[in-house]
Amino acid sequence: MSTTGERRASATDAAILEIVRRRSQTSRVEISRELGVTPATVTYAVKRLLAEGLLVESGFARSNGGKRASLLRLNDQARWAIGCTIDADRLSLAAVDLTGALQARIAVPLEAPSDRGAVREALHRALSTLRPEAGAHAATGIGVALPHDLTADGPALLREITRDLNIPSISANEPACAALGSFWSGEQPESGLCATVHMEAGIGLSILQDGRPLQPGPGSSATLDHVGIDPSGPPCECGGHGCLHQYASARALVDRAAARDGLGEELELRLTPSSLSSDVVLLALAAAHGEPRAREIFTAAAAAVAQAVWAATSALGIRTVVLSGPALQAAPVLVGEVMAEHYTARARNLGTEATVTVSQVQPHPCAVGAAVLALQTFVSPGLASRGGSTSQGGRTAQGGLAAQGGFAAQSFAAQSGLAVQGDLTAQCGVASHEA
Ligand SMILES: [Zn+2]
Repeated sequence: MSTTGERRASATDAAILEIVRRRSQTSRVEISRELGVTPATVTYAVKRLLAEGLLVESGFARSNGGKRASLLRLNDQARWAIGCTIDADRLSLAAVDLTGALQARIAVPLEAPSDRGAVREALHRALSTLRPEAGAHAATGIGVALPHDLTADGPALLREITRDLNIPSISANEPACAALGSFWSGEQPESGLCATVHMEAGIGLSILQDGRPLQPGPGSSATLDHVGIDPSGPPCECGGHGCLHQYASARALVDRAAARDGLGEELELRLTPSSLSSDVVLLALAAAHGEPRAREIFTAAAAAVAQAVWAATSALGIRTVVLSGPALQAAPVLVGEVMAEHYTARARNLGTEATVTVSQVQPHPCAVGAAVLALQTFVSPGLASRGGSTSQGGRTAQGGLAAQGGFAAQSFAAQSGLAVQGDLTAQCGVASHEA
């Protein structure tokens, strides 16, 4: 088969897998109708997917007079993938099956997230205990959610930490992973637009359309950090005044807590760079439990987030928002109350309905999203570019992402309107390389 033919076949396979996943089980006729391709094309592709063990026959549809159609479902145990998140004080892994369902998870402490050797060592330690019965090398691939502040150096970091793993790898920024993880965990609508606001060191934004990310422009990830909250606020490095990160970043929250008499000591905040994310979670927990000073600080920050989210989403007509990140998810009821007052009420005043929920995937959905990304990228059979990227002489398969024509090409490149050739790292913040 020609390379073009392989790509087309692989894209068809990926589209079929996606339809079967979404419908739980379905028939060849339904697939052919939804895909708009001939029944013969579907029959041929399904035969290939059954042989690969990715699909299984699962009984027969009810008869409507004629021959009963046989039903297909995903063989959820056929493949599994790993997702990795690198937080300030820990490294977390999640394993998902072919349907995206969480199979196992583990977190190990991380002393120095900027030390790549330490990250690699933590990754190996976590991999050895994630699914000892299966062995990490049996995984289809590993996805890595890159911390907000490391995204620019993503491909280099990915190469470094996965260099002696014999597993294909891919990375994306944290907000994109949070959105995918939340979507695949059933927290977002199957169709339409949904914004995920992920608060970690910074406040990132990822928008999914029908479950697929709309990516920001070249070389950047979307952030709410510099959305103006108060024009008379303090000057910001961007040249503006009163930007969101000055009120609601982890740094701003912890600085405010440290400046309140005795609060830092009472909450046992460590106030070091590596304790930033655990300190902000302690503050959120205290706020949730009604500690008045913590509550005041946290509520003001959440209100600022609501204001920025309103600015970003109302302009785009987005009415469904999911909030994620360890601090927001540590105080879901309080965050919900603030969003109801400062976001949902504004939509209602304008005669529309808006929904804001806090993700329930603990501690946050990035690891699941990164695993799903790896699954989407590497699961499709006939991954020609495993050889293809090698034959191009490079181990970094940035163009290969799309060339593979897998779930990923479908969800990340082709249907997001991204160019198939060229630097996907720059275009959508995603990089992959073959182990
Ligand atoms: Zn700014």
